[in-house]
Amino acid sequence: MKVAVFSTKPYDRRFLEEANKEHGHDLHFYETRLNEETARLAEGHEAVTVFVNDDCREPVLKLLQDGGTRCLALRSAGFNHVDLAAALKMGFTVNRVPAYSPHAVAEHTLALCLGLNRQLHRAFNRVREGNFALDGLLGFDLHGKTVGIVGTGKIGAIVAHTFRGFGCKVLAYDVHKNPDCEKEGVEYLPLDELLPRAEVLSLHCPLTPDTKHLINQDSLKKMKMGAMLINTSRGALVETKAVVEALKTGRLGALGLDVYEEEGDLFFEDLSNKVIQDDVFMRLLTFPNVLITGHQAFFTKEALQNITSTTLGNISAFARGETNGNELSEEFLANG
Ligand code: NAD
Repeated sequence: MKVAVFSTKPYDRRFLEEANKEHGHDLHFYETRLNEETARLAEGHEAVTVFVNDDCREPVLKLLQDGGTRCLALRSAGFNHVDLAAALKMGFTVNRVPAYSPHAVAEHTLALCLGLNRQLHRAFNRVREGNFALDGLLGFDLHGKTVGIVGTGKIGAIVAHTFRGFGCKVLAYDVHKNPDCEKEGVEYLPLDELLPRAEVLSLHCPLTPDTKHLINQDSLKKMKMGAMLINTSRGALVETKAVVEALKTGRLGALGLDVYEEEGDLFFEDLSNKVIQDDVFMRLLTFPNVLITGHQAFFTKEALQNITSTTLGNISAFARGETNGNELSEEFLANG
């Protein structure tokens, strides 16, 4: 099948070409993102594959439909960048990679928490400059601390399990309780009761209209003074301006982000020679107690192998007229 691959980075191409040895699709690689201007590149391709910052809103989908595309294969688990209702109405098959390596994201979450707590980002620079002073690098024992997890699906459950391994008390909030988490002693609470108790709060729910700006001025006020917030899920779960204010007052003690609500203009590109125009993001970078990575939590060898082989498997299933369980149906419209 003729497949247009948008947002191709060198690593995507390498892993896709390797995985394609089993599928034999005719892959056409485009470095550009999918949007209204670039959608015509997909003309004549029955399948299009996209990543998290590609524009899959209705006008773009319409252009893809006009060009003969019928299958939209997401190289991600999250699908908040797709107007799913419009896609399904237009008759697209939309499939995704539901779980490529929840461990990759969970481990990066822990890396942000541990790195921030022990200030590794600052210690690295100090030691390189011959500054071995410890003042300003004081951390805390994770052992015995209370961690709050919002969303205990595949990733959140591993994060909860790992924090349990550190000897933390783990509280959770989710619209559906995970029995595996309950079995290992995770205590479920309403969000309002969890926020004042968590010394570390980690977000692992999807971005939906219900969860947009879940962490905002009001919820930040309910959080324990000086708590650490980690977000490796989706940027818009957090209202960034409110978080900047909470960092200024010390209400928030530390912030670890792998995602950012306006990341579409920044992440995955080398902007080191450009003037970054996003003042909110630049303000975040000035805090000593903020550690940001550019949406790399998924970025492990194992995850890329799974993403590429599942994506091509999804396209092969579509080509054979079969379903393989990775399709997004009407039911996802309600559940997010
Ligand atoms: P999952 O579907 O297995 O789990 C999501 C959990 O969130 C479920 O238990 C669900 O019940 C819960 N949830 C849904 N709505 C909620 C709400 N309103 N309040 C509280 N909980 C709610 O998903 P997952 O595989 O664990 O992934 C979680 C998120 O991680 C994804 O949505 C995606 O946005 C993000 N992600 C980020 C990266 C990265 O590289 N940073 C990579 C993969 C996934």
